[in-house]
Amino acid sequence: MQTIEGIPASTGIAIGKVFLYEKNTEYNGLMEKLNHLTVEEAKNKFNRGINDAIKHLEQIREITEKEVGFDEAGIFDAQMLILEDDDFQTAVVNEITNGVKLLDAIWGVIDYYVGKFKLMENSYFQERAADIRDVGNQLINALIGKKTSALAELTEKVIIVAKELSPSETAEMRKNMVIGFATDLGGSASHVAIIARALNIPAVVGSSKISTTVSQDDVVILDGIKGKIIINPPRDILVSYDEMRKRMLLEQQEVQKYAKIDVSTIDGKKIGILANIGAMEELEPALQNGAEGVGLLRTEFLYLQKRILPEEEDLFRIFKKILVAMDEKPVIFRTLDVGGDKEIPSLQMQKETNPFLGLRGSRFISDVKLRNIILVQIRAALKASLYGKVKIMFPMVSTVEEIIELSSMVAECKLQVEREGFQVSDSVEVGVMVEVPSIAICVENFAPYVDFFSIGTNDLTQYVLASDRTNETVANIYDHFHPAVFNLIKQVIHGAHKHGKWVGICGELASEVLALPVLVGLEIDELSMNSKTIPLIKKRITKLSFDKCKTECQKILKLATAKEIRDYLAENSIL
Ligand code: PEP
Ligand code: MG
Repeated sequence: MQTIEGIPASTGIAIGKVFLYEKNTEYNGLMEKLNHLTVEEAKNKFNRGINDAIKHLEQIREITEKEVGFDEAGIFDAQMLILEDDDFQTAVVNEITNGVKLLDAIWGVIDYYVGKFKLMENSYFQERAADIRDVGNQLINALIGKKTSALAELTEKVIIVAKELSPSETAEMRKNMVIGFATDLGGSASHVAIIARALNIPAVVGSSKISTTVSQDDVVILDGIKGKIIINPPRDILVSYDEMRKRMLLEQQEVQKYAKIDVSTIDGKKIGILANIGAMEELEPALQNGAEGVGLLRTEFLYLQKRILPEEEDLFRIFKKILVAMDEKPVIFRTLDVGGDKEIPSLQMQKETNPFLGLRGSRFISDVKLRNIILVQIRAALKASLYGKVKIMFPMVSTVEEIIELSSMVAECKLQVEREGFQVSDSVEVGVMVEVPSIAICVENFAPYVDFFSIGTNDLTQYVLASDRTNETVANIYDHFHPAVFNLIKQVIHGAHKHGKWVGICGELASEVLALPVLVGLEIDELSMNSKTIPLIKKRITKLSFDKCKTECQKILKLATAKEIRDYLAENSIL
């Protein structure tokens, strides 16, 4: 038995046979031939290869959208963008003209792009370097006429082990035959990790040596909770892991019963439980898990990795589809929140030295071109408002002036679209995210201009503790259980309630079972979270006493550290 450690990228346990995926080398001869072409032949071959590779990418984009989701399919748009890019094509052709062999010319330019991505500070973009390398592989495959990989021909349930898996390889894979993933490379934002989470399959990535340690058909335990791969385990360990796997499945089924129940605390306090949605394919699971609405629709997924910005008509169609699917349950459309750690390549925004404090989210309204993006989103949401319960929410607001301007943009858009002949619902609510401490501290100054507040604890925590949410080196400081965060939440709820405005939380804190008694005790109105956690949170609410939570809260908010708060909550089982 041997155990290899890695990064837990998608939770759960899988036990099964290894399918060791190694990149094909049988095409080496064909590749060699590419190096003997004349300059003219190489240029023609390259142009044909570009067209074939784009055609192939279009096909796998379609398969991925169907099997995994719209959002995950976006990576192929980004890859097609590179192949279509004039700068990319010209750079390769120039190299060929200068006498560089076709394959060297392609890899030389691809390596330049990979290098640029690797230098980016954000880990999400660093990990996109692997996706760019995949563009090179796609192009070479097109040049030698290679179509499918062994992953497309799986015939039994297996755990895929590979050095690295590219988007096109995972797209072609027979997904119903895969029960887990283990890779040498990649982090929790790598493509394989994203796909594994979307498919609800355990994954351990970044283990450095799993692909060189296991052999084809070895039996492994893939522990996606702790990030371990146990190779050829003895019978007793296999049995105990199998029991754990079955227990987890049973627990999941038991908790799942709470999904469809309308819950309140034992003394009758009702708290709205809604879903955060960041991709179209998350809608159905949200309904299955009992979401009472969408508490945060991250509209960024309609823009990230897309070749062009969506038009108002595209947004209207998608918003309408979501509202119809939610069947009169409320949907909070958050206007675009890019900048900070999220970039849209098609906007080509200027690089900032401190992007989290820069031109981000609703601050776009101060830029003529970017302001229009927000206006288009507001107009699309208003037009869709007859198909359900629309709420519009603005991210990254810091000042009262901004919220006044944003509210008047909504009012102006309403007049405009009505003049254009569209009917707009009178009950559209307008809210603001509490992510910047200034809103939390002066919440009563903002209350007259909004219908609701939604606390984005992910950003609020980073701004309160001055600790970048994406930087592992300050992860010890970034903790949403910090008393400063809870005390600001208290201030927001009390201030908003004084003005008759409701408050929700849509940051990750909303899905923390441990934090639930504090949030209930502080009289939160709504919690919005990844839909997988909804049944568990609903179950916990039915066990809580609102009165007891209120009393305990007083003590908890006086504790000095995040650790003291966590320990207190963990030790007081009554909560
Ligand atoms: C938040 O900041 O808590 C939030 C929900 O927004 P995002 O994570 O999308 O920045
Ligand atoms: Mg945020």
